[in-house]
Amino acid sequence: DMPPIKGEVHFEDIIFEYEPGRRALHRINLDAGPGQSIALVGHTGSGKSTIINLLCRFYDPTEGRVRIDGIDIRDVKLHSLRSQIGIVMQDTFIFSGTIRDNIRFGKLEATDEEVEQAAKAVHAHDFIINLPFGYDTEVQERGNALSMGQRQLISFARALLADPRILILDEATASIDTETELRIQEALKTLLKGRTSFMVAHRLSTIRGADKIIVLDHGRIMESGDHDDL
Ligand code: ATP
Ligand code: MG
Repeated sequence: DMPPIKGEVHFEDIIFEYEPGRRALHRINLDAGPGQSIALVGHTGSGKSTIINLLCRFYDPTEGRVRIDGIDIRDVKLHSLRSQIGIVMQDTFIFSGTIRDNIRFGKLEATDEEVEQAAKAVHAHDFIINLPFGYDTEVQERGNALSMGQRQLISFARALLADPRILILDEATASIDTETELRIQEALKTLLKGRTSFMVAHRLSTIRGADKIIVLDHGRIMESGDHDDL
């Protein structure tokens, strides 16, 4: 098992091929200190999701290693690794059930109060209590009772409740109104605090807020630095 971690992540000399002979990543070296936020940017096919896939161990590197707090992630049990990593996907998944269940999915033993605290922290509480049955409102997996922004806030609350040391965020590209955008940025700040995060970032505001921006092109890091450097 993995001991409780600080969340220091190192990609060391990573080469990755999904298919033999076709490199998706060419010798990637990338470090994230505990609590640092990393924005991955680059054109389609540049390797952003591949980096995430390796960190979650959906695949193992063809060469090189990924270390968390110095430990090669191949040397720890998968469930133990994944219990330290929270993932907020682009198509923020909502399952059929109540809003409360959807948030509690982050930590099944959470009390109602903890669920509401998480929702409050990401500014989701206000819209939730205005729904017909508040936290007990039933939502559908494919239903559109919730806006894209609201779905995102619920997935933030779920991730906050799970409280992982490492957070992966595949930012939605869907356009949302300015007010929701602002609320999401605020919520994101709360969510990222104290966690090492890797964000496939599309919004300029997210990229600006990151500690480090990694620009990928055809599986190589072209540039890295903070927003002022680049
Ligand atoms: P996007 O912005 O479109 O999500 P990305 O930066 O996330 O792009 P990746 O998905 O990491 O890009 O893809 C990097 C390269 O690996 C691309 O050439 C892609 O075609 C290839 N690739 C991605 N997934 C697979 C897979 N499952 N099998 C084979 N090749 C893949
Ligand atoms: Mg991708």
